[in-house]
Amino acid sequence: MQQVVLASSNLGKIREIEPLLKDLPLQIIPQSQFDLTDAIEDAATFVENALIKARHACQHTGLPAIADDSGLAIAALNGAPGIISARYAGAKRSDQANIDKVLNELTGETNRQAEFHSVMVYMQHTNDPCPIVCHGRWHGEILNKCQGSGGFGYDPIFWVPTHQCSAAELPADVKQTISHRGHALADLVDALKKKYR
Ligand code: IMP
Repeated sequence: MQQVVLASSNLGKIREIEPLLKDLPLQIIPQSQFDLTDAIEDAATFVENALIKARHACQHTGLPAIADDSGLAIAALNGAPGIISARYAGAKRSDQANIDKVLNELTGETNRQAEFHSVMVYMQHTNDPCPIVCHGRWHGEILNKCQGSGGFGYDPIFWVPTHQCSAAELPADVKQTISHRGHALADLVDALKKKYR
């Protein structure tokens, strides 16, 4: 079976991604099983950062790689935290500090519209000139305080109008179906099924 590296060290994301890839004729290996440092995500878009992560994993393992870059874009903050969602409150990467910073910046703001984005890429090898790139989005609103204890990242403050609860209150399988990552992954799985059938 073809081995493929999953280029992420975010456990929350790995937990969501792995089950959706299980029907493919691929052996998915998390990058933690290789002695792989995190790639430097210094580009300006989710697409470029996902490609950087995938190329980094290909380069260090010699295997094809799947990578995602994702984040939250809040309308009233001109799309922030965007590509720096993971480290919005600083390099220490604390979910609670990031949430506190967003809530603080939105104090008194009535426009609470927001979108999660996920870009999932598949890169065959370091010099792959045509990687598969899939983009998923998920619309919601930013709550005034945390609600729920599931999920990760900004889930406790992301209100999901279609389900009338926060993302942190959704059962994991429901989040996987309706989320930005779920949509991007569904497209990626379709593309990989065609490639490996
Ligand atoms: P990266 O893709 O690893 O650079 O980080 C994305 C960051 O965006 C995460 O660390 C979270 O803060 C946030 N994020 C992405 N997807 C989700 C999600 O499904 N729920 C909550 N936060 C998310």
